[in-house]
Amino acid sequence: MIKGAIHSIETFGSVDGPGIRFLVFLKGCKLRCKYCHNADTWDPGSEDMRTAQELLDFAERYRTYWGEDGGITVSGGEPLLQIDFLLEFFKMAKERGINTCIDTALQPFTKEEPFFSKFEELMKYTDLLLVDIKHIDREEHIKLTGLPNDNIVEGMKYLSEIGKPIWIRHVLVPGITDNDEYLHKTKEFIDTLSNVKRVDVLPYHTLGQHKFEALGIPYQLEGVKSPTADRVENARSILNG
Ligand code: SF4
Repeated sequence: MIKGAIHSIETFGSVDGPGIRFLVFLKGCKLRCKYCHNADTWDPGSEDMRTAQELLDFAERYRTYWGEDGGITVSGGEPLLQIDFLLEFFKMAKERGINTCIDTALQPFTKEEPFFSKFEELMKYTDLLLVDIKHIDREEHIKLTGLPNDNIVEGMKYLSEIGKPIWIRHVLVPGITDNDEYLHKTKEFIDTLSNVKRVDVLPYHTLGQHKFEALGIPYQLEGVKSPTADRVENARSILNG
């Protein structure tokens, strides 16, 4: 059985998907978001390696808390980098009648094989995806994350085509994404999708900064403050308008 490289587990999550959720954070990410709150997930190696069965047996100890809506969310890092493990994990979770959710930036998405067939299969066992739009503008996306967003946009369109429900999340960063022109462009893109159940604006915060410092990586948003309540409200009303 394939083992997943795990960063950490939270047994009682309430914001990453519906209801109360068991959260698994997997290791590895190829983006380098300047505001990343989990820079210690970037390195794909882990000392905590578990099979799907081990992880599910552990998760099920908390099942009574999940109620009707809750279940398991796999986050990261970028969980789709471990798609073979994720496939096994969710297939088994569905056999046990568990609600499944992936928190992803879709960075590994491609219509090329072998990824695409695995992704198509994974979608059969996935109830919901929480998808980050990091930046709607391709060049700004590169500046913010290190990589372009073409395949991410393609992945979102694909999810819309197959009618897979998604929640969109957008981090509002002063001077980067907190810009009405970009917010309206993001909204225009969201309006082309048919599967969006919810759009959340997440105000930038500096809680991840200490992880950069601990890893000896320069923090590029030094001095950038959280957006004001007015700007957060502005973004929420544009994106949900
Ligand atoms: S996608 Fe997530 S884990 Fe990866 S760099 Fe961005 S914020 Fe960090």
